[in-house]
Amino acid sequence: MTDPARRAVVRSAPVVPGADPPGAVPNPATMPPGTPQMPIAPSVARPAVVMEAGPEHAGESVRIESVTKTYPNGKAALVDVDLAIPEGDFIFLVGPSGAGKSTLIKLLVRDEKATEGTVEVAGFDLRNMKRKEVPLLRRRIGIVFQDFRLLPRKTVYENVAFALEVTGTPRADIDPAVERVLALVGLTAQAQQRPGELSGGEMQRTAIARAMVHDPRLIIADEPTGNLDPLISWEIIQLLLRINEMGTTVMMATHDAEVVTALRRRVVALEDGRIVRDEVGGYHRDY
Ligand code: ADP
Repeated sequence: MTDPARRAVVRSAPVVPGADPPGAVPNPATMPPGTPQMPIAPSVARPAVVMEAGPEHAGESVRIESVTKTYPNGKAALVDVDLAIPEGDFIFLVGPSGAGKSTLIKLLVRDEKATEGTVEVAGFDLRNMKRKEVPLLRRRIGIVFQDFRLLPRKTVYENVAFALEVTGTPRADIDPAVERVLALVGLTAQAQQRPGELSGGEMQRTAIARAMVHDPRLIIADEPTGNLDPLISWEIIQLLLRINEMGTTVMMATHDAEVVTALRRRVVALEDGRIVRDEVGGYHRDY
């Protein structure tokens, strides 16, 4: 269940004027593998007030209305898509390659902007969002990728801590937060190991810990089990289910028909940029 304390209408935070130029705060979750380890971004840079979703959409993690995404080359990757995800939901996003799944995820994390329509995520209206506000959105969303995207020279502990360091979190708050999420994903004993010393499942659990360390409203997992064998895939799914039970909304894009069919959760199916099915049930197609 959702903790009502997380639905505050107004949040206050200290302001450091000018500390957050557009695009200055990197999002470690979206860094490609091997990204050079850069100096820590400017210290605390949160606005005084963040407005949450209006009462009309209270209780929703995602609301997409009449969204079309046409890339500059003319390719229509999403066409007239409507999707509402209540807080606390667990949904699978399925569809063949090229259906528009990645494009949808990119719109949700504001890597891309919708050509038409409304995108609201975790209380933010992404259509009217300024670039400098994007890091605030990304702190409300945890992202997990198929290829883990860990920093290879940092330990498990440092990979997770880095997500807090780049947002200027005080050191005293970092250690307890990292310890909490490493316990959650069962990696306390591996905290000092580097990604090269981990199994695939442990790497993905590290990535999930990093995604959870900001206590996000929504976890978006893009093919999180795509590089893992079936047994380890189930461990990762169980972890995502547990995170969901603790109140975090989970959206998982997957081709794993066995998992989708077994869990009987809400399945949103995309084909050619359109939602062709949105119901509780199985996988249905051999994508
Ligand atoms: P999926 O994740 O389901 O495989 P994508 O969202 O990656 O699908 O792609 C949807 C469609 O949009 C595909 O036809 C793809 O070729 C196209 N596409 C994706 N990204 C771009 C881009 N940056 N520019 C032009 N076309 C793109």
